[in-house]
Amino acid sequence: MRAISPGLHLVSTPIGAARDITLHALDVLAGADVLVAEDTRTLRHLMEIHGIPLNGRQVIAYHDHSGEGQMQRLLGLLAEGRSLAYASEAGTPLISDPGFELARAVAAAGLPMSAAPGPCAAICALTLSGLPSDRFLFAGFPPSAQGARRSFLEDLATVQATLILYESPKRLAALLTEMAATLGAARQAVVCRELTKRFEEVMRGSLADLVEQVDGRDIKGEIVVLVDRAAPVEADDTTIAAALDQALKTMSVKDAATFVSQTLGVSRKIVYRIALDRSQG
Ligand code: SAM
Repeated sequence: MRAISPGLHLVSTPIGAARDITLHALDVLAGADVLVAEDTRTLRHLMEIHGIPLNGRQVIAYHDHSGEGQMQRLLGLLAEGRSLAYASEAGTPLISDPGFELARAVAAAGLPMSAAPGPCAAICALTLSGLPSDRFLFAGFPPSAQGARRSFLEDLATVQATLILYESPKRLAALLTEMAATLGAARQAVVCRELTKRFEEVMRGSLADLVEQVDGRDIKGEIVVLVDRAAPVEADDTTIAAALDQALKTMSVKDAATFVSQTLGVSRKIVYRIALDRSQG
């Protein structure tokens, strides 16, 4: 077994199948001085499954709303040179899960921190989706209030990247309908349900197709929704020039040309020529 170094260890845990845990994660759980978890029962259960004894170690509950006292307690243990393993309920901590406030405080205090990486529903879904994986935007859970939800989707409409969202099964049908209206019914999309579990399902099609596929079904389980990027906009020279002028304020000609060509979906050669003209003029 590897010796566990002092500091905070962010441990990724399975998103379904219990065997999806790394040897590194098991080493950290077996060897850390203190165990910290979003849900202490879930962590104890996972450790039981993998035959890792607690041996009298403390299991402390922590989430981002645990309060300043709990955060200071953990920072104090780290400052004493203890090793802490932190696991959220499932998957990778901080990814639509607690851990951000703690990781930020540990980084700010200059205390040691490392990760035992592993399962994450967003990445698992992206790899299965068949949608382009070169650029993606993980947007987490859409807000539930109607107005906030609409502007959240509007903001995503022109993003030149595969969109990845988490959603509750109860709201899936409504989300697909709203996305078809905001992003365009013809956009290719994928719904991944219950990844790595017994009833795993991957549905593909346009947003309009998916609205039909889920219509009338009582959808259960955990869901990731992915949507292909917007079709490139027809950008004229004026639009390209305006985007370049903005980008050239903070980027080199080369970087600005790459950025604008990717953002507007226009040939890099054309953008680079305009960028050179503008940077010289
Ligand atoms: N930290 C986790 C991760 O790394 O993916 C995400 C935690 S977030 C509170 C839970 C959401 O993740 C679920 O509502 C669902 O959208 C997604 N999710 C988690 N496990 C999943 C699975 N097995 N299949 C599909 N989606 C899953």
